[in-house]
Amino acid sequence: MKNSASPVDQQPFDFILFGGTGDLAMRKLLPALYFRHCEGQLAEGGRIIAVARRDYNNESFRELMETDARIHIPEADFDAAAWQEFLQRVFYLPIDVTTVEGYSDLGDMLAGREELARVFYLSVAPNLFSVICNGVDEAGLITEQSRVALEKPLGRDQETAEQINDQLAASFNEKQIFRIDHYLGKEAVQNLMALRFGNALFEPLWRNERISDVQITIAESLGAEGRGAFYDQTGALRDMVQNHLLQLLVILAMEPPVSIDPDAVRDEKIKVLRALKPLVGGDAIENTVRGQYKAGAYADGAVIGYRDNEDVPSESKTETFVAIRAEIASWRWEGVPFFLRTGKRMESKTTEIIVNFKKVPHSIFETADGFSTPNQLIIRLQPEESIRMRIYVKAWGDDIQLQPVHLNLDFNDVFKKRQMIAYERLCMDLIRGNQTLFMRRDEVAAAWAWIDPIRQAWEQHNVTPKPYTAGTWGPAAANALISREGFKWYEE
Ligand code: NAD
Repeated sequence: MKNSASPVDQQPFDFILFGGTGDLAMRKLLPALYFRHCEGQLAEGGRIIAVARRDYNNESFRELMETDARIHIPEADFDAAAWQEFLQRVFYLPIDVTTVEGYSDLGDMLAGREELARVFYLSVAPNLFSVICNGVDEAGLITEQSRVALEKPLGRDQETAEQINDQLAASFNEKQIFRIDHYLGKEAVQNLMALRFGNALFEPLWRNERISDVQITIAESLGAEGRGAFYDQTGALRDMVQNHLLQLLVILAMEPPVSIDPDAVRDEKIKVLRALKPLVGGDAIENTVRGQYKAGAYADGAVIGYRDNEDVPSESKTETFVAIRAEIASWRWEGVPFFLRTGKRMESKTTEIIVNFKKVPHSIFETADGFSTPNQLIIRLQPEESIRMRIYVKAWGDDIQLQPVHLNLDFNDVFKKRQMIAYERLCMDLIRGNQTLFMRRDEVAAAWAWIDPIRQAWEQHNVTPKPYTAGTWGPAAANALISREGFKWYEE
């Protein structure tokens, strides 16, 4: 969107990266800021202050970045001179955020820069969110231009999310709080908005009269290795559905906002969340599938089952897969099922949104597939971002035989430049104070309000996850969920 890609309106800033030595910082955030530096988007005098416990100084931290953050920048996109320049912006402050002294050291570093944009990025475990908010607050470091950014998980349910939000609200006002769902920073997600609201073509089709069903899949091929202890307390419903899957659904289904202003967009998003038909008790059981992967194999070898992980209890009942049939109670969407699914150790790593359109009311043509697969809009977010439209054309030849083909929007071909990673946009929006792509408090609450009854129903009805073999598309019950109305999951 223009506000984050534009080279204008740069202003100096302090980007304070709590958890600066952590995985997210090294893998995503520091490379993202480097790319923005290369694009000339970081103003002169803009600083990145990495904060963590380990005892580095500026120099040794920059060396750590060289071995850790740099490996996440593809060689073809790496410019040694720009990297050296970038490193000069990066400073390191070794503090324990649970101590008062730490904030006074930070205060010394920030003194005299009160007028600048000040970002507190909490790339730390959630139990440190309120500790840091209190710490910077009590040290008097929250200025008018300050923002705080935090990652999921935002609580385990509505109640705990509200507690976190209360803690944030004790120090920051809502306009200063940036709750990140990095899916919203992806080009393809914003292109979905551009496609819908920048073209007159789709709007008349974007409704129950024309659309038969919508499918959203977020499939990972990785298992829970290395994250088992965290994952076993969380599960796929909390880890993926409450945030990423629902955010994609909402962007796809929302009404046109009156403008691209943050609250105009978020006002429309929340209406969709509130219009989701509740899945309570028997409805939840009937319209959801829980799964858990067991051992299986990929082309490059065998993999262990979820419960075989060292840090996962051998009797774990945590789901690594969820499929849901959701409905939105609105004029636009009444009667259109939204099939959502996400899982670990699935056949391949894919994130895609499929909009299936209804068949032609009366066909004058013959097709090899009997129009079995209607027109489809296929929006892919992973592994590569693309948008394709499946339509029928006449195949060359003297008989009239229709054949489906894809109108293919390949972003690499069209734009011929490096595609921004989601965190680049989000970091720039943070520096510029644009909240459009960040979740408002009421959105988080509404998402949990829809999710919590599903979990409660599983508990009350003792629904244990159905096993599925690693390297497949999940339990057979997920196919049954969609096929009972005559639909089937999209497959390439
Ligand atoms: P991590 O464990 O790799 O890093 C944690 C960082 O916090 C380290 O730099 C550590 O030094 C610092 N830290 C811990 N205790 C501290 C203290 N008392 N004082 C100062 N610093 C302290 O974690 P991560 O994987 O980078 O995740 C960070 C946050 O982002 C978490 O909230 C996580 O849930 C979220 N997140 C991470 C990812 C990811 O891909 N890694 C994805 C989504 C969300």
